[in-house]
Amino acid sequence: MPLLVNVRSLQKQSERHAGEIPVADFAADFQDELVRFVEPLRYDLEVSVHGPELTALGRLETTLECDCGRCLKTFRQPLVVPDFAVVLPLEGEGAEEREGDFADLTPLLREDTFLALPTNPLCTPDCRGLVPKAPDRDLRPGKEITGGPAAGGSPWDQLNKLKL
Ligand SMILES: [Zn+2]
Repeated sequence: MPLLVNVRSLQKQSERHAGEIPVADFAADFQDELVRFVEPLRYDLEVSVHGPELTALGRLETTLECDCGRCLKTFRQPLVVPDFAVVLPLEGEGAEEREGDFADLTPLLREDTFLALPTNPLCTPDCRGLVPKAPDRDLRPGKEITGGPAAGGSPWDQLNKLKL
């Protein structure tokens, strides 16, 4: 069930469109290592047409299932686009392809939803991750300097040490 709006009737008056788009219809080919869509995309939009442009304003929301980028725990979190706003040209270059009087807004909803996805989901903002196996190099700033070339063990380094 994509979100189709009737451009011809919108030219007479704006319409409110609220509903859901199943995951299969808006994110069937979405693949991400850490993020999955688990609920339909819910939309509540005010759609209007002014001259050659269609405008849709409103709110999008759904629920994501994420794997924490640090500890790999699986958790759910809401994804909300509170101020969804698009302007769609109906004529000329960049105009959406239409079948008859209908314009499909699903690709626009999809695009903004994907842009709002977390790039590095965390189960909690201060997740400390898995129990560390070894101290991170970055936590030992002195290591790079003191343990650098000398510890690397060029034979000449060893010889120089002996001479001194
Ligand atoms: Zn975590």
